[in-house]
Amino acid sequence: MMSKVRPVGSRVPRPEPVPSNFRYPWAINGYLTEFLENGTQALSLSIAIAIAKKRDISAPEVILPAYGCPDLVAAVVAQGAKPVLVDLLSNTAQMDDNRLCHAIGPGCVAVVAVGFLGVPERLKVLSEICREREIFLIEDSAQCFPPSGITFSHADAIVLSFGRGKPINLMGGGALIYQRKLQPLVKEALGNTPSLAKSVGILWRFKRLVFNWLMMRLPYWAVEKVPFLHIGQTRYQECPYIRRAILSDTLLFAGIQYFFQRPYLGDLYRKELDELCDNGWRLLGSDCKRMDHPGCSVPRVRIALLAPSSTAREHAELALNRAGIGATNFYGAILPELEGLEGFFESAHFPVAKDFSSRLLTLPCHEDVRPGDIHKIVKIMKKLYSDDWASEADRVS
Ligand SMILES: *Cc1c(COP(=O)(O)O)cnc(C)c1O
Repeated sequence: MMSKVRPVGSRVPRPEPVPSNFRYPWAINGYLTEFLENGTQALSLSIAIAIAKKRDISAPEVILPAYGCPDLVAAVVAQGAKPVLVDLLSNTAQMDDNRLCHAIGPGCVAVVAVGFLGVPERLKVLSEICREREIFLIEDSAQCFPPSGITFSHADAIVLSFGRGKPINLMGGGALIYQRKLQPLVKEALGNTPSLAKSVGILWRFKRLVFNWLMMRLPYWAVEKVPFLHIGQTRYQECPYIRRAILSDTLLFAGIQYFFQRPYLGDLYRKELDELCDNGWRLLGSDCKRMDHPGCSVPRVRIALLAPSSTAREHAELALNRAGIGATNFYGAILPELEGLEGFFESAHFPVAKDFSSRLLTLPCHEDVRPGDIHKIVKIMKKLYSDDWASEADRVS
């Protein structure tokens, strides 16, 4: 079968004329925006601000969840700070607040609240912990749009990414959204960093066509087989500099529009997965009510499922990929176990995060996933379940 449903990624939109009343949807409650080359740089800039707010601390520490994107570590290390990891609450990608309180030492300058595949962190809980201790709270909303820390001004700063596999894919770019009172610090941290104009000229338009074509089922099937492209692999990359970007409003506007037009497949998945959920599978964030969008479910980048065991996850991942469905284990391991990150942390003992990462299965939910695909995915998974059950019965008898 020469066809594969890509695991993630929305098509890059075509720039559109911008209405005169267009405002960034996150520019409320006095938040300001600075565009950067990518999301990692935006996060790194936010950490520079957190450090600048506490100049008397000589060895700054930044708190991150033990399971997450390796770019988090790159952004912290780039500012000369030490990443301190916190274990998760069971069956979630959210930090355990008890452990978080323990991890906050005298050198802590910031906590990074990382939204996971469309499910935001608990900004209210984390902001209470941070406010009490006068610690900077950064919402990394690279995987969640719109960000949730703005509505009640819970977050001091918020990070967006416009890269591949993110809610708004513009083939690169990032934004730091920050509270107005931080403006002098942002200016100071940026200094004379150059601005890079991201043009949407003829070359860009050509790249967009190729990029979008490669996401189709046959080309994706072929590209995935090319080993040196490392499609879908998680790799640690340093963040050597920060550069401002001038993004085209026509593209940004189109990206935001396109995001809200995309189908929300969560309900369909939930309905189809009902039986599996009775048998130990868990749909992540199905109880996640977006306070800021009552009654409105925004599209996600991927559906995140937790298997009843790591073996069940492995079997499902294998069977789905064989059937041409891009199901993944996402990062594949907790941060201290990722390639290139060994030795960055004092401890690698994060049992809850480790259990989470071993049971995580992501399923595609982009605009090219059809209802028939979802039906097929769940049918394959149910068949595995009944096969496992049958072999279990064999053993018993
Ligand atoms: C992708 C991602 C980033 C980095 O964004 P880039 O634009 O790829 O640099 C940061 N944090 C999280 C949680 C991400 O998923």
